[in-house]
Amino acid sequence: MSLTVVEPATEQVLAELPRAGAEEADAAVARAKGAYPAWRAIAPPDRSRVLHNLAGLLAERREQLARLEARNAGKPIGDARGEMDMVADTFRYYAAAPERALGDTIPVTGGVAMTFREPLGVVALITPWNFPLTIASWKLAPALAAGNTVVLKPAELTPLTALEFEKIALEAGIPDGVVNVVVGPGSTAGARLVEHPDVAKVAFTGSTEVGRRIAASAAQTIKRVTLELGGKSANVVFADADLQAAAAAAPGAVFGNAGQDCCARSRILVERSALDAFMDALEEHVEGIRVGDPLDEATQMGPLISAGQRQTVASFVPAGAPVAIQGSTPDGPGYWFPPTVLCPVDREDRAVREEIFGPVAVVVPFRDEAEAVALANDTIYGLSGSIWTRDGAKALRVARAIEAGVLSINSNTSVRVSTPFGGFKQSGYGRELGPHALDHYTEVKSVYYAT
Ligand code: NAP
Ligand code: MG
Repeated sequence: MSLTVVEPATEQVLAELPRAGAEEADAAVARAKGAYPAWRAIAPPDRSRVLHNLAGLLAERREQLARLEARNAGKPIGDARGEMDMVADTFRYYAAAPERALGDTIPVTGGVAMTFREPLGVVALITPWNFPLTIASWKLAPALAAGNTVVLKPAELTPLTALEFEKIALEAGIPDGVVNVVVGPGSTAGARLVEHPDVAKVAFTGSTEVGRRIAASAAQTIKRVTLELGGKSANVVFADADLQAAAAAAPGAVFGNAGQDCCARSRILVERSALDAFMDALEEHVEGIRVGDPLDEATQMGPLISAGQRQTVASFVPAGAPVAIQGSTPDGPGYWFPPTVLCPVDREDRAVREEIFGPVAVVVPFRDEAEAVALANDTIYGLSGSIWTRDGAKALRVARAIEAGVLSINSNTSVRVSTPFGGFKQSGYGRELGPHALDHYTEVKSVYYAT
C-alpha cells in the first residue's frame, strides 16, 4: 500500500511513500528493543557528544528541512526556519542531560540509600501534522538523552521531515536501531505501538479525542503515557493594557500556522470599556495579514493542511455568522481560509466552546477581573493563555487563577526550550521541554546499601 503526500498550497503530489501498518510497527519496535542495551550503556559523555553532533547537523540542514516542512505543512518559510532553529536548540539543550542525570543520597538506618534515573526502554512517539519536526524533537531529544530508544510515528499528512531526521541521526553517529520512523496510519501503525508489550511509554501530541483512546489502550499494559492535547486558550485584554501592542500581537497568536496551533489564543476576552478601541486596532492588523505561497518570503499565513480541515473550520463560520473582521486569500488551488474574527458571538456558540484549529478567533467582552477569570476557565481545556495589563499585581493574580499550563503576560508566546510546556485539564498531562521533560522519560530507582 502506498501513501500520497500532498502539498496543501498547490494540492499537488509531493511524495509517494510506502505505507506502514501493524507489522512494520512491530518490526520497528523489535529494532528499537535490540538497540536498547548498547545505547543505554554508552558512557554519558559519549552519548552527549553524539547528541551535540546531531544538533550541529540539524543546524547545518536548516534551510533544506525548513523548505521541506514549509511545503509539506503549508507554513510560511520564515516560520519554518524558526521551527528548525528550535529543533536544533532542543537537541543542544538535552545533549547536556546525560552528564547531569543527578540522583540523591539519603541517609537511612543501617546504611545509605541512593536514587538513579533509569531509562524506560523503547518509547513510542506519536505526533501531529501542525509542527511536525518541532513537536517530534521535543520528545526525541529528552527520550534519547535519557538512554531510551524510540519509534516515531509522524502524522501521515506530514511525514517528510521525520524521514529526513532518521537519516541525519544515523549520520550524526546515533547507532542503527536507536531511532526508527514508521510512516503509517494512526489506526493501524499508531494503535499497534500503543498496544505493544515491548513499548514502555507513549508520548503523544494530538487531539483530545485520540488522546483519550490512547490512554485507554495503554492502560492494558500499564504503559507510561504523556499527552499534549487540544486547547481553547484565552487572550485576556484589560482596559489598562497597552491596547495597541495587544491588538498588534493578537493576530499572530491565533492566525499563526493558520490557526493550527494547540496554543492558539482563539478566545480574545476584552474588557468591555476597551472593546471598541481594541476592535479598531485589531481590524487593521487582521486585514493586513499576507496569506499566500508558503515559500514566498513575504507570506505570513499559508493554507490549511487539507480539504477536510478547511471543511471543519468553515463549519464554525456558517452563513449569517457574526463576522466582524475578515482577511483575504489567494485564488486558485490550495486549502485557503481567510483570517476571521467573530464578534459579537453567543457564549454558547460552538466557535466559543470548541477547538477550531483554523484561523478563526472569537472576541468576547468581560466586565471585571472576576468575570475574565471565570470566562477564561469556562472550558474543558487548559493549555495556554495570555494576560495584557499594565497592573503587575493584577497580571500575576490572573495568571495564578487561570487553569492552564503555560501563560504569558504582555506577550502571546508559549514555548521555550528551557521552560516546561503542557496542559491542565483535558489539554493533557506531563510536561515537555525544560528540565521537567526528562522526568517523563526515566524511572526513579532507589538502591539501599547496608553499611
Ligand atoms: P490527531 O488526529 O489526534 O493525530 C495525532 C497523531 O495520532 C497522528 O500521528 C495520528 O496518525 C495518530 N493517531 C490517530 N489515531 C490514533 C490511534 N487510534 N492510535 C494511535 N495513534 C493515532 O491530531 P492531528 O489532527 O494530527 O493534530 C491536531 C490536534 O493536535 C489538535 O487537537 C491540536 O490541539 C493537537 N495538538 C496539541 C499540541 C500540544 O502540544 N498540546 C500540539 C499540537 C497539536 P495519522 O493522522 O497519521 O492517522
Ligand atoms: Mg487528525
